[in-house]
Amino acid sequence: MSNNGRVFNFSAGPSMLPLDVMEDVAANLTNYKGCGQSVMEMSHRSADYKAIIEAAEANLRELMNIPDNYKVMFLQGGATLQFAMVPLNLFRKSKKADYIVTGTWAKKAAAEAKKFGQVNIVASSEESTFTYIPKVTKDMLTPDADYVHITFNNTIYGTHYNDYIPDTGNVPLVADMSSCILSEEVDVKKFGLIYAGAQKNVGPAGVTIVIMRDDLIGFAPETCPTYLDYKIHAENGSMYNTPPCFGIYVAGEVFAKIKREGGIAPLHKIDVEKAKKLYDYIDSSALFKAPVVKEDRSLMNVVFVTGNADLDKKFVAEAKAVGLVNLSGHRSIGGMRASIYNAMPMEGVEKLIEFMKKFEAENK
Ligand SMILES: *Cc1c(COP(=O)(O)O)cnc(C)c1O
Repeated sequence: MSNNGRVFNFSAGPSMLPLDVMEDVAANLTNYKGCGQSVMEMSHRSADYKAIIEAAEANLRELMNIPDNYKVMFLQGGATLQFAMVPLNLFRKSKKADYIVTGTWAKKAAAEAKKFGQVNIVASSEESTFTYIPKVTKDMLTPDADYVHITFNNTIYGTHYNDYIPDTGNVPLVADMSSCILSEEVDVKKFGLIYAGAQKNVGPAGVTIVIMRDDLIGFAPETCPTYLDYKIHAENGSMYNTPPCFGIYVAGEVFAKIKREGGIAPLHKIDVEKAKKLYDYIDSSALFKAPVVKEDRSLMNVVFVTGNADLDKKFVAEAKAVGLVNLSGHRSIGGMRASIYNAMPMEGVEKLIEFMKKFEAENK
Protein backbone atom coordinates (compact mmCIF):
# COMPACT_ATOMS: atom_id res chain seq x y z
CA MET A 1 0.00 0.00 0.00
CA SER A 2 1.51 3.27 -1.01
CA ASN A 3 -1.50 5.53 -0.75
CA ASN A 4 -0.18 6.96 2.57
CA GLY A 5 -0.94 3.66 4.26
CA ARG A 6 -4.53 3.89 3.07
CA VAL A 7 -6.35 1.32 0.98
CA PHE A 8 -7.63 2.08 -2.50
CA ASN A 9 -11.36 2.07 -1.84
CA PHE A 10 -13.46 1.18 -4.89
CA SER A 11 -16.74 1.50 -2.99
CA ALA A 12 -19.72 2.95 -4.85
CA GLY A 13 -20.44 5.19 -1.87
CA PRO A 14 -19.51 6.42 0.58
CA SER A 15 -16.24 6.50 -1.29
CA MET A 16 -12.77 8.01 -1.31
CA LEU A 17 -12.33 11.72 -0.66
CA PRO A 18 -9.27 13.76 -1.65
CA LEU A 19 -6.56 13.12 0.93
CA ASP A 20 -5.37 16.72 1.00
CA VAL A 21 -8.89 17.92 1.78
CA MET A 22 -9.24 15.45 4.64
CA GLU A 23 -5.84 16.41 6.03
CA ASP A 24 -6.78 20.07 5.98
CA VAL A 25 -10.13 19.29 7.60
CA ALA A 26 -8.26 17.28 10.26
CA ALA A 27 -5.82 20.13 10.90
CA ASN A 28 -8.78 22.46 11.44
CA LEU A 29 -11.00 19.97 13.21
CA THR A 30 -10.94 21.30 16.77
CA ASN A 31 -10.16 24.93 16.00
CA TYR A 32 -11.33 25.97 12.56
CA LYS A 33 -8.94 28.60 11.15
CA GLY A 34 -8.44 30.18 14.56
CA CYS A 35 -12.16 30.56 15.33
CA GLY A 36 -11.63 28.75 18.62
CA GLN A 37 -14.15 26.05 17.79
CA SER A 38 -14.86 23.21 15.43
CA VAL A 39 -17.20 23.59 12.46
CA MET A 40 -19.16 20.81 14.19
CA GLU A 41 -19.73 23.06 17.19
CA MET A 42 -20.43 26.29 15.38
CA SER A 43 -23.82 27.97 15.20
CA HIS A 44 -25.13 27.67 11.69
CA ARG A 45 -26.24 31.29 12.07
CA SER A 46 -22.73 32.52 12.93
CA ALA A 47 -20.72 34.76 10.62
CA ASP A 48 -18.01 32.09 10.40
CA TYR A 49 -20.46 29.46 9.21
CA LYS A 50 -22.21 31.89 6.89
CA ALA A 51 -18.87 32.40 5.14
CA ILE A 52 -18.44 28.62 4.79
CA ILE A 53 -21.85 27.93 3.22
CA GLU A 54 -21.73 31.00 0.99
CA ALA A 55 -18.29 30.04 -0.34
CA ALA A 56 -19.49 26.47 -0.92
CA GLU A 57 -22.45 27.69 -2.97
CA ALA A 58 -20.41 30.27 -4.88
CA ASN A 59 -17.73 27.74 -5.78
CA LEU A 60 -20.28 25.14 -6.88
CA ARG A 61 -22.01 27.77 -9.01
CA GLU A 62 -18.72 28.69 -10.63
CA LEU A 63 -17.61 25.08 -11.20
CA MET A 64 -20.90 24.03 -12.76
CA ASN A 65 -21.58 27.36 -14.42
CA ILE A 66 -25.01 27.48 -12.79
CA PRO A 67 -27.16 30.28 -14.24
CA ASP A 68 -28.58 32.94 -11.89
CA ASN A 69 -32.14 31.74 -12.37
CA TYR A 70 -31.27 28.47 -10.63
CA LYS A 71 -31.34 27.98 -6.87
CA VAL A 72 -28.72 25.85 -5.15
CA MET A 73 -29.86 24.03 -2.03
CA PHE A 74 -28.00 21.88 0.46
CA LEU A 75 -30.53 19.46 1.90
CA GLN A 76 -30.64 16.22 3.88
CA GLY A 77 -32.25 12.84 3.26
CA GLY A 78 -30.02 11.73 0.38
CA ALA A 79 -31.10 11.14 -3.19
CA THR A 80 -33.77 8.87 -1.75
CA LEU A 81 -35.69 11.80 -0.26
CA GLN A 82 -35.45 13.55 -3.64
CA PHE A 83 -37.33 10.59 -5.14
CA ALA A 84 -40.30 11.92 -3.11
CA MET A 85 -39.61 15.66 -3.09
CA VAL A 86 -39.45 15.81 -6.89
CA PRO A 87 -43.00 14.51 -7.51
CA LEU A 88 -44.40 16.27 -4.44
CA ASN A 89 -43.22 19.61 -5.79
CA LEU A 90 -43.32 19.10 -9.55
CA PHE A 91 -46.69 17.39 -10.03
CA ARG A 92 -48.29 20.76 -10.50
CA LYS A 93 -50.56 20.58 -13.58
CA SER A 94 -51.32 17.23 -15.26
CA LYS A 95 -49.90 15.16 -12.39
CA LYS A 96 -48.21 12.98 -14.99
CA ALA A 97 -44.49 12.31 -15.24
CA ASP A 98 -42.29 10.31 -17.60
CA TYR A 99 -39.54 8.13 -16.16
CA ILE A 100 -36.75 6.45 -18.10
CA VAL A 101 -35.82 3.33 -16.18
CA THR A 102 -32.13 2.52 -16.43
CA GLY A 103 -31.50 0.73 -13.16
CA THR A 104 -32.38 0.21 -9.54
CA TRP A 105 -32.28 3.87 -8.54
CA ALA A 106 -34.42 4.94 -11.50
CA LYS A 107 -36.94 2.23 -10.60
CA LYS A 108 -37.04 3.40 -7.00
CA ALA A 109 -37.52 7.00 -8.11
CA ALA A 110 -40.43 5.97 -10.35
CA ALA A 111 -42.03 3.85 -7.62
CA GLU A 112 -41.91 6.77 -5.19
CA ALA A 113 -43.43 9.16 -7.74
CA LYS A 114 -46.35 6.75 -8.27
CA LYS A 115 -47.50 7.59 -4.76
CA PHE A 116 -48.23 11.12 -5.90
CA GLY A 117 -49.43 10.95 -9.50
CA GLN A 118 -49.34 9.10 -12.80
CA VAL A 119 -45.98 7.69 -13.79
CA ASN A 120 -45.31 6.61 -17.36
CA ILE A 121 -42.29 4.37 -17.87
CA VAL A 122 -41.46 5.61 -21.36
CA ALA A 123 -38.43 3.35 -21.78
CA SER A 124 -36.54 0.75 -19.81
CA SER A 125 -33.47 -1.40 -20.35
CA GLU A 126 -34.48 -3.90 -17.67
CA GLU A 127 -34.95 -6.69 -20.23
CA SER A 128 -31.18 -6.69 -20.75
CA THR A 129 -30.30 -6.22 -17.07
CA PHE A 130 -29.76 -2.51 -17.68
CA THR A 131 -26.65 -2.89 -19.84
CA TYR A 132 -27.53 0.11 -22.01
CA ILE A 133 -29.28 3.49 -21.97
CA PRO A 134 -32.49 3.45 -24.06
CA LYS A 135 -32.55 6.24 -26.64
CA VAL A 136 -35.70 8.24 -26.08
CA THR A 137 -37.06 10.56 -28.74
CA LYS A 138 -39.58 13.32 -28.22
CA ASP A 139 -42.46 11.36 -29.77
CA MET A 140 -42.14 8.75 -27.00
CA LEU A 141 -42.76 11.33 -24.29
CA THR A 142 -46.07 12.46 -22.79
CA PRO A 143 -46.68 15.96 -24.23
CA ASP A 144 -48.39 17.31 -21.11
CA ALA A 145 -46.13 15.64 -18.55
CA ASP A 146 -45.12 17.79 -15.60
CA TYR A 147 -41.54 16.56 -15.91
CA VAL A 148 -39.28 13.81 -17.27
CA HIS A 149 -36.93 12.00 -14.90
CA ILE A 150 -33.62 10.35 -15.76
CA THR A 151 -30.81 8.80 -13.74
CA PHE A 152 -27.76 10.32 -15.40
CA ASN A 153 -25.25 7.78 -14.13
CA ASN A 154 -26.39 4.34 -13.07
CA THR A 155 -24.17 3.47 -10.16
CA ILE A 156 -25.12 -0.20 -9.89
CA TYR A 157 -25.08 -1.17 -13.58
CA GLY A 158 -22.30 1.17 -14.72
CA THR A 159 -24.13 3.08 -17.46
CA HIS A 160 -24.24 6.79 -18.20
CA TYR A 161 -25.91 9.17 -20.65
CA ASN A 162 -22.87 9.88 -22.84
CA ASP A 163 -23.36 12.55 -25.52
CA TYR A 164 -27.13 12.22 -25.36
CA ILE A 165 -29.68 13.96 -23.20
CA PRO A 166 -33.36 13.38 -24.02
CA ASP A 167 -34.94 16.35 -25.77
CA THR A 168 -37.99 17.06 -23.65
CA GLY A 169 -38.92 20.37 -25.26
CA ASN A 170 -40.66 22.57 -22.71
CA VAL A 171 -41.15 19.75 -20.23
CA PRO A 172 -38.59 20.11 -17.41
CA LEU A 173 -35.93 17.42 -17.31
CA VAL A 174 -35.02 16.16 -13.84
CA ALA A 175 -31.76 14.27 -13.36
CA ASP A 176 -30.35 12.21 -10.53
CA MET A 177 -26.61 12.95 -10.78
CA SER A 178 -25.63 11.36 -7.46
CA SER A 179 -22.78 9.31 -8.88
CA CYS A 180 -21.42 11.61 -11.59
CA ILE A 181 -21.80 15.21 -10.41
CA LEU A 182 -18.52 17.14 -10.86
CA SER A 183 -17.01 14.44 -13.07
CA GLU A 184 -18.00 16.16 -16.30
CA GLU A 185 -19.22 19.51 -17.52
CA VAL A 186 -23.00 19.56 -17.89
CA ASP A 187 -25.15 22.26 -19.38
CA VAL A 188 -27.33 23.07 -16.37
CA LYS A 189 -29.74 25.04 -18.59
CA LYS A 190 -30.91 21.77 -20.13
CA PHE A 191 -32.30 20.64 -16.78
CA GLY A 192 -35.17 21.84 -14.64
CA LEU A 193 -33.77 20.16 -11.57
CA ILE A 194 -30.56 18.28 -10.76
CA TYR A 195 -30.06 16.43 -7.51
CA ALA A 196 -27.17 14.47 -6.04
CA GLY A 197 -26.31 12.87 -2.74
CA ALA A 198 -22.81 13.94 -1.73
CA GLN A 199 -21.25 10.65 -0.72
CA LYS A 200 -20.21 9.44 -4.18
CA ASN A 201 -18.22 12.26 -5.68
CA VAL A 202 -18.46 15.27 -3.39
CA GLY A 203 -18.14 14.78 0.35
CA PRO A 204 -19.38 12.86 3.35
CA ALA A 205 -22.90 11.39 3.42
CA GLY A 206 -25.53 13.69 4.83
CA VAL A 207 -25.64 16.52 2.30
CA THR A 208 -27.77 16.42 -0.83
CA ILE A 209 -27.27 19.01 -3.52
CA VAL A 210 -30.32 20.34 -5.38
CA ILE A 211 -29.99 22.71 -8.32
CA MET A 212 -33.41 23.93 -9.42
CA ARG A 213 -34.73 26.39 -11.98
CA ASP A 214 -36.55 29.06 -9.99
CA ASP A 215 -39.78 29.09 -12.03
CA LEU A 216 -40.40 25.50 -10.90
CA ILE A 217 -40.33 26.45 -7.23
CA GLY A 218 -43.52 27.14 -5.28
CA PHE A 219 -45.95 24.50 -6.50
CA ALA A 220 -45.97 22.11 -3.55
CA PRO A 221 -49.49 21.37 -2.27
CA GLU A 222 -50.58 22.86 1.03
CA THR A 223 -50.38 19.44 2.65
CA CYS A 224 -46.70 19.16 1.76
CA PRO A 225 -44.56 18.78 4.91
CA THR A 226 -42.58 21.97 5.42
CA TYR A 227 -39.16 20.38 5.03
CA LEU A 228 -40.18 18.77 1.73
CA ASP A 229 -41.13 22.06 0.07
CA TYR A 230 -38.23 23.38 -2.05
CA LYS A 231 -39.60 26.90 -1.63
CA ILE A 232 -38.78 26.87 2.09
CA HIS A 233 -35.15 25.97 1.43
CA ALA A 234 -34.76 28.28 -1.56
CA GLU A 235 -36.13 31.26 0.35
CA ASN A 236 -33.98 30.56 3.39
CA GLY A 237 -30.65 29.82 1.69
CA SER A 238 -30.66 26.20 2.95
CA MET A 239 -30.99 27.63 6.49
CA TYR A 240 -34.66 27.10 7.26
CA ASN A 241 -33.55 24.61 9.86
CA THR A 242 -30.09 23.40 10.88
CA PRO A 243 -28.41 22.28 7.67
CA PRO A 244 -25.89 19.40 7.57
CA CYS A 245 -23.20 21.91 8.58
CA PHE A 246 -20.12 19.74 8.65
CA GLY A 247 -20.94 17.93 5.43
CA ILE A 248 -21.52 21.21 3.61
CA TYR A 249 -18.15 22.44 4.92
CA VAL A 250 -16.27 19.38 3.63
CA ALA A 251 -18.12 19.49 0.31
CA GLY A 252 -17.16 23.16 0.08
CA GLU A 253 -13.50 22.27 0.62
CA VAL A 254 -13.77 19.76 -2.24
CA PHE A 255 -15.32 22.43 -4.49
CA ALA A 256 -12.49 24.84 -3.57
CA LYS A 257 -9.87 22.21 -4.39
CA ILE A 258 -11.43 21.48 -7.80
CA LYS A 259 -11.53 25.20 -8.51
CA ARG A 260 -7.86 25.66 -7.46
CA GLU A 261 -6.90 22.84 -9.79
CA GLY A 262 -8.57 24.33 -12.83
CA GLY A 263 -12.21 23.26 -12.60
CA ILE A 264 -14.12 20.28 -13.92
CA ALA A 265 -12.54 20.03 -17.40
CA PRO A 266 -9.07 18.84 -16.29
CA LEU A 267 -10.66 16.51 -13.74
CA HIS A 268 -12.88 15.03 -16.44
CA LYS A 269 -9.83 14.43 -18.63
CA ILE A 270 -8.22 12.36 -15.89
CA ASP A 271 -11.50 10.52 -15.23
CA VAL A 272 -11.62 9.61 -18.93
CA GLU A 273 -8.02 8.35 -18.82
CA LYS A 274 -8.63 6.28 -15.71
CA ALA A 275 -11.78 4.66 -17.10
CA LYS A 276 -10.23 4.06 -20.53
CA LYS A 277 -7.26 2.23 -19.04
CA LEU A 278 -9.52 -0.05 -17.06
CA TYR A 279 -12.06 -0.74 -19.85
CA ASP A 280 -9.26 -1.27 -22.39
CA TYR A 281 -7.70 -3.90 -20.19
CA ILE A 282 -11.06 -5.61 -19.51
CA ASP A 283 -11.89 -5.65 -23.24
CA SER A 284 -8.51 -7.24 -24.00
CA SER A 285 -8.80 -9.79 -21.21
CA ALA A 286 -9.81 -13.41 -21.78
CA LEU A 287 -11.11 -13.70 -18.22
CA PHE A 288 -12.94 -10.45 -17.44
CA LYS A 289 -15.86 -9.01 -19.37
CA ALA A 290 -17.65 -5.69 -19.16
CA PRO A 291 -21.37 -6.30 -19.82
CA VAL A 292 -22.26 -2.68 -20.63
CA VAL A 293 -22.39 -1.63 -24.30
CA LYS A 294 -19.40 0.55 -25.12
CA GLU A 295 -21.22 3.77 -25.94
CA ASP A 296 -23.09 3.87 -22.63
CA ARG A 297 -20.28 3.01 -20.25
CA SER A 298 -19.88 4.98 -17.05
CA LEU A 299 -16.62 6.72 -16.24
CA MET A 300 -17.38 6.41 -12.54
CA ASN A 301 -18.60 2.85 -12.02
CA VAL A 302 -16.85 0.13 -14.01
CA VAL A 303 -18.80 -3.13 -13.86
CA PHE A 304 -17.13 -6.42 -14.85
CA VAL A 305 -17.54 -10.17 -14.37
CA THR A 306 -15.65 -13.40 -14.94
CA GLY A 307 -18.87 -15.31 -15.61
CA ASN A 308 -18.16 -17.58 -12.64
CA ALA A 309 -19.62 -16.45 -9.32
CA ASP A 310 -17.07 -18.40 -7.25
CA LEU A 311 -14.18 -16.90 -9.17
CA ASP A 312 -15.71 -13.43 -8.72
CA LYS A 313 -15.77 -13.99 -4.95
CA LYS A 314 -12.17 -15.18 -4.97
CA PHE A 315 -11.17 -12.09 -6.94
CA VAL A 316 -12.84 -9.73 -4.48
CA ALA A 317 -11.26 -11.49 -1.48
CA GLU A 318 -7.74 -11.58 -2.94
CA ALA A 319 -7.96 -7.96 -4.06
CA LYS A 320 -8.98 -6.94 -0.55
CA ALA A 321 -5.93 -8.72 0.85
CA VAL A 322 -3.67 -6.41 -1.19
CA GLY A 323 -5.46 -3.19 -0.25
CA LEU A 324 -7.88 -2.94 -3.19
CA VAL A 325 -11.17 -2.93 -1.30
CA ASN A 326 -14.91 -2.95 -1.97
CA LEU A 327 -14.70 -4.42 -5.46
CA SER A 328 -17.80 -6.59 -5.26
CA GLY A 329 -20.72 -5.68 -7.45
CA HIS A 330 -23.95 -4.43 -5.91
CA ARG A 331 -25.62 -7.13 -3.85
CA SER A 332 -28.46 -7.27 -6.40
CA ILE A 333 -26.29 -8.26 -9.41
CA GLY A 334 -23.04 -9.75 -8.09
CA GLY A 335 -19.87 -9.69 -10.17
CA MET A 336 -17.44 -6.84 -9.66
CA ARG A 337 -17.63 -3.08 -9.73
CA ALA A 338 -14.76 -0.64 -9.47
CA SER A 339 -16.05 2.79 -8.56
CA ILE A 340 -13.39 5.23 -9.66
CA TYR A 341 -14.74 8.61 -8.68
CA ASN A 342 -12.75 11.86 -8.88
CA ALA A 343 -10.80 11.12 -5.70
CA MET A 344 -9.53 7.71 -6.86
CA PRO A 345 -5.95 8.36 -7.94
CA MET A 346 -4.63 6.99 -11.24
CA GLU A 347 -2.29 4.90 -9.11
CA GLY A 348 -5.29 3.05 -7.66
CA VAL A 349 -6.55 2.17 -11.14
CA GLU A 350 -3.08 1.05 -12.23
CA LYS A 351 -2.72 -1.14 -9.12
CA LEU A 352 -6.10 -2.67 -9.86
CA ILE A 353 -5.17 -3.48 -13.47
CA GLU A 354 -1.87 -4.97 -12.32
CA PHE A 355 -3.74 -7.14 -9.84
CA MET A 356 -6.31 -8.20 -12.46
CA LYS A 357 -3.51 -9.28 -14.83
CA LYS A 358 -1.91 -11.35 -12.11
CA PHE A 359 -5.27 -12.88 -11.16
CA GLU A 360 -5.99 -13.70 -14.79
CA ALA A 361 -2.62 -15.43 -15.22
CA GLU A 362 -3.20 -17.47 -12.07
CA ASN A 363 -6.77 -18.46 -12.92
CA LYS A 364 -6.66 -19.45 -16.56
C1 LIG B 1 -26.42 6.17 -4.21
C2 LIG B 1 -27.48 6.59 -5.13
C3 LIG B 1 -28.77 6.88 -4.69
C4 LIG B 1 -29.19 6.74 -3.24
O1 LIG B 1 -28.61 7.73 -2.51
P1 LIG B 1 -28.89 7.95 -0.96
O2 LIG B 1 -28.09 9.16 -0.67
O3 LIG B 1 -28.41 6.73 -0.25
O4 LIG B 1 -30.35 8.16 -0.79
C5 LIG B 1 -29.70 7.33 -5.62
N1 LIG B 1 -29.36 7.49 -6.91
C6 LIG B 1 -28.13 7.20 -7.38
C7 LIG B 1 -27.82 7.37 -8.83
C8 LIG B 1 -27.16 6.74 -6.51
O5 LIG B 1 -25.92 6.47 -6.96
